[in-house]
Amino acid sequence: MTELLPRPLPNINEMNRDFWCGGADGRLHIHRCGACKRWHHPYVAACPACLSRDVKAEPVSGLGKVKAVTINHQPWFPAVPVPYAVILVELDEQEDIRLPANLVNAPVEAAQPGLKVKVCFQQYGDIFIPVFEPA
Ligand SMILES: [Zn+2]
Repeated sequence: MTELLPRPLPNINEMNRDFWCGGADGRLHIHRCGACKRWHHPYVAACPACLSRDVKAEPVSGLGKVKAVTINHQPWFPAVPVPYAVILVELDEQEDIRLPANLVNAPVEAAQPGLKVKVCFQQYGDIFIPVFEPA
């Protein structure tokens, strides 16, 4: 676990529960098509590649690399100290599976494209927000 950031939390439903609550087992869960094996994020009810409805969440390695970085200096949420890094992480499983997240356990200056990262979680009750730290 990492230091908790005060943040708005997602509304949990059947489509997103595996993503937001799946971190309870320490792993990141992403939807995957059982027919063509492509990963999909955000969650989908049917595979846009082959139209199969055999799509369900599976754990991924949690490893990836930073594709893009934004350093936020605007105090959108007064309780969150600025600056902080918002990174777009491309998961190792598939190059077009990318998710925005916070970089933690590293100085803001460490947020650079190409940085290898691994997932960790910030727990808020049943919700486990995926964040990334240098791998
Ligand atoms: Zn498919």
